[in-house]
Amino acid sequence: MNLTPHFTLEEMTFSEVAARLGLDNTPGLTVAANLKLVAAFMEKIRTLLWDKSIVVRSGYRSVEVNQAVGGVATSAHCHGLACDFVCPAFGAPAEVALAILKSDIGYDQLILEYGWVHIGLAREGLSFRRESLTKRSPWAGYELGIRA
Ligand SMILES: [Zn+2]
Repeated sequence: MNLTPHFTLEEMTFSEVAARLGLDNTPGLTVAANLKLVAAFMEKIRTLLWDKSIVVRSGYRSVEVNQAVGGVATSAHCHGLACDFVCPAFGAPAEVALAILKSDIGYDQLILEYGWVHIGLAREGLSFRRESLTKRSPWAGYELGIRA
């Protein structure tokens, strides 16, 4: 099911870990509505990245799935308000993150992770922080800013 022209509900809810472990990753109504916001937001990112194809690595993660992948308990992924992605046709994750950083796109959190970019939206009613961080490995802490 298409949420927006370039993003589907399936890719926003797919989880390899959920499939492997047989965990439920079906979004409820609130999460589904949030995923629509994320998809609309990702369209803006896609436009910024010269309309190149974006590959979604992870969108919604149920609490069980989030625990299984070792995500932080407060993860925006659990609310359907985050997207991990790459855009190889535009550039490496660091180049993607820097392009978003330099844009006027109103994200809550932008994280250059080890191999992909995480972007999070603010929960309804909260203003976005436009916080940018870098995480170099699963074991590393978060550094302030986008550090290529
Ligand atoms: Zn993420």
